[in-house]
Parts: sequence; structure tokens; C-alpha cells
Amino acid sequence: VQAIEIKRIEKSTRDFTDYKDVWVFGEQRNGQLNQVVYELIGEGRKLANKLGENLCVALIGNKLTSKAKDLINYGVDKVYLVDEEGLAIYNDEAYTAVMTELINCYKPSIILLGATAIGRSLGPRVAARIKTGLTADCTGLDIDSESGILLQTRPAFGGNIMATIVCKNHRPQMATVRQGVMKPAKRKSGYNGQVIKHHFDYNKLNLRTRVLKVVEEITDMVKLEEADIIVSGGRGVGSAENFKLIRELAEVLGGAVGASRAAVDNGWIPYAHQVGQTGKTVSPKIYIACGISGAVQHLVGMRSSDVIIAINKDPNAPIFNVATYGLVGDLNQIIPAMIKEIKLR
Ligand code: FAD
Repeated sequence: VQAIEIKRIEKSTRDFTDYKDVWVFGEQRNGQLNQVVYELIGEGRKLANKLGENLCVALIGNKLTSKAKDLINYGVDKVYLVDEEGLAIYNDEAYTAVMTELINCYKPSIILLGATAIGRSLGPRVAARIKTGLTADCTGLDIDSESGILLQTRPAFGGNIMATIVCKNHRPQMATVRQGVMKPAKRKSGYNGQVIKHHFDYNKLNLRTRVLKVVEEITDMVKLEEADIIVSGGRGVGSAENFKLIRELAEVLGGAVGASRAAVDNGWIPYAHQVGQTGKTVSPKIYIACGISGAVQHLVGMRSSDVIIAINKDPNAPIFNVATYGLVGDLNQIIPAMIKEIKLR
């Protein structure tokens, strides 16, 4: 992966003094905030501190007052709450209208959304309405110290370069951010924040779409993005049948099963398990890569894991460059030995 060197970013000649504060879109379903919201609060806090501005959350839905108050415990300075019965279920048109009104009213300088199905749908719609830019799928954010402009980094050209994108002449600066990349904010008491209830006239909306029913996907899978331990298998596992080794190791460790694209393309495991550029981004406490070479497109999805353990028979496999611990050898011997040892403890 090459990093493009940023030369000097010149300040815009436009006056943006009215635009202040870092906002996070508080994505929720059935009153439960998506984990990415806490990650964006953690990252947003750092950006807000660098700018000397407030960190705020825009929370839209129904019966969310206690959720809004609870967000203060994560270090949020202001929660803008729009609480309406008609907004209980996410709807592109309605949420776009609400976000557009909030932004026009309070003028944030930065808005962060999760790169989730909802964030990816809502972000561009809002950006188009307020005539600003949006960088999709960011994996890194920072503030340029001279210009105060948001540096938005994301993989480009098939993951071969990391591109840093800036939005110089428009405000707010908007980005969707991959799940599992940023460290989540921790809950603590003693913060001073406020909940600002914003009245939105739902009846003025002339919606062309209506959500008839929300059908939950039935899955027996642990959510990869939320797992503390992930055991992933690659082409080196050899077959669908042999994936039982990966499943068993994950099971004894109480973790989830991940995979490289090669394993998914071979039909050994469903796509929902794929980690990487075109799969999921994860940052568990422990990531065990078994028979995975460490292609850049895989690394981009897991390299921020706390501890990476690589099992590979090739001592020169690139995965060892990012591994905390490396085991050189045949996974068919190493994994059963690990399972046996863990079961004894
Ligand atoms: P390989 O590269 O074939 O590596 C297999 C490894 O297993 C080797 O290092 C080998 O030494 C080792 N091995 C073999 N047998 C054993 C054994 N018995 N014991 C121990 N080790 C053994 N890839 C992803 O993973 N996720 C993505 O999201 C993704 N997105 C992509 C997007 C684009 C646009 C492109 C172009 C590619 C993408 N890829 C992605 C594919 C990526 O480039 C690699 O091809 C893929 O990650 C390789 O998977 P692998 O490491 O399992 O297989």
C-alpha cells in the first residue's frame, strides 16, 4: 500500500465561520444504536478536540429520549433529537428531509456517518441536498493543522493506494466511515452535555415511499464486526470440508468465523464471512489468520486488530509482516494441536 504524500492544503477563500461542530449520525434500529455510532463518537471526539469545537450526535427516530440522554455518558456535548412516531423506522426520504433541516438550522462543520446500508444511502442524499461533497468508506480521519480541513483517507484503485481526500470549498465536510476501524468511545459518568429537542413537522412531508414491513434476516452467525475473537480461513484451508477446523477453533475460543475472498470464491463459506476490502472491516482483540497469504485487500479489513496471529506454511507470506505472532507450518497440524491445548485449560 502506498501513501500519497499530502503537500500543503490551502485554506478555502470562502467564509465558513458559521459552520462549527463535529456531528455523528446516530444510526439506530428499534432504539438500538449501531456499534459504528460509538466508534464515530470516539473518533469524532478527537477531531472536535483538535478543532476546539463541540461533538454532537443527530438522533432521529421515536421514543429515544433516554437513548439521547445516555449518549452524554460517551462524552457527547450536544444531542440533537428529532423524536416523531412517523420516524420510528428508517425511511430514506423522511430521514433525508430531517437531516437537511437540522444541518441548515445548526450548521455543523463535519458530519460522520457509518458506511452501513443506512449511512451509505442517507449520506449521499443529504450531501446532494445541501450541495456539499462526501467521501465514502473512509478508514482514516484527521484534521490538517494549518487549514483545519478534514483529511479523509480511504483505499482507492482496488486497495493499491490510500487516497486522502479533502472538501475545500463546501461545508459541512461529510464522510461515511467503515465499521470496525475506529476505537469506540467508552461509557463514563460525569460528562456535561445537553439534549436539544428539535421539532420537525412530519406532516409537511409528502412521502412517495412507505416501509410496509421490516423482515429480520435469520442468521446463526455471530456478528463479525462485534466479535472479540475471529478465526479466519483462506485458500490454505483447502476445502469446504476442512473449514470445520476453523469453526472448531473459533468455537473453543468463543469467537466468530471469518474468511478470505479466495475461500468465499471457492464456495467453502458464505460471503457474509468475508473480511477485507469487498467484505467486512473488523478490529477484534484477536484475529487468527489461517492459510491466508496477506494480500492488501485482505489486510485492509483486519489490520487494526489488537493481536494478529498468522498460521502459514510459507515463512515469506506477507501476512507475517503484520502479525503479532507467527506460526510457520501446516495448519492441519497446528490447529488441532491448538484446539487440544485450549480444551485442556
Ligand atoms: P492465497 O493468496 O492463495 O494464500 C493462501 C495461503 O495459504 C498461502 O500463503 C499459502 O502459503 C498458505 N497455505 C497453503 N496451504 C497451507 C497449509 N496447509 N497450512 C498453512 N498455510 C497454508 N481478498 C480478501 O480476502 N478480502 C477481500 O475483501 C478482497 N477484496 C478484493 C477486492 C479486489 C478489487 C481484488 C482485486 C481482490 C480482492 N481480494 C480480497 C483478493 C485478494 O487479492 C487475494 O486474492 C485473497 O485475499 C487471497 O486469499 P488467500 O490469502 O486465502 O489465498
